[in-house]
Amino acid sequence: MEIQKHIPKPVFTPTHKLVDPSHPMLNEPPEKFDFANPQMDPIELSELLVKHMQHFGGIGLSANQLGLPYRVFCMVGEPMHVCFNPIITGMGDEINMLDEGCLSWPGLYLKIKRPASIRVRFQDYNGDMVVKKFAGMSARVFQHEYEHLQGEHFVEHVSRFALDRARQKQAKTLNKVRKQLRDANKKIQTR
Ligand SMILES: [Zn+2]
Repeated sequence: MEIQKHIPKPVFTPTHKLVDPSHPMLNEPPEKFDFANPQMDPIELSELLVKHMQHFGGIGLSANQLGLPYRVFCMVGEPMHVCFNPIITGMGDEINMLDEGCLSWPGLYLKIKRPASIRVRFQDYNGDMVVKKFAGMSARVFQHEYEHLQGEHFVEHVSRFALDRARQKQAKTLNKVRKQLRDANKKIQTR
């Protein structure tokens, strides 16, 4: 029917917030996802993770970032991966340095060295074992998200000095964003 065209698409409303980086949830390894006795429906959990990642504009998101204490994360790619109980079984010799950000530290970007390629194992949402080799951005995102499941953080990779400098930049970026939001609101009010 013609009228259908004018009905806006349903907007996704997040059901979970990103927990603060100081929260124990992000500082302790979460429990294994138990397919024999699932803590929650794995398909529901997969959808929840992917939708929140897209909503927050990330390229990877671990369950504990949303306050869900399970060893699961999702990451963008073709196809999209949701990795249950992931482990890194091998790393390549080549190391690369890339700018990395994290949804839990908005606006903070750090140059971090990590292996350029990895071999991994994880379970898909059916509990089936998947063995893969990742390189490039996928390898980077996998290692970043895997670290969240170890209760560790990307900020632990850099020196105090580098972190302080990045935090100053972060404050500037956040101030700029806040100012843009204020200006946008003013425009709306004066219309
Ligand atoms: Zn992160």
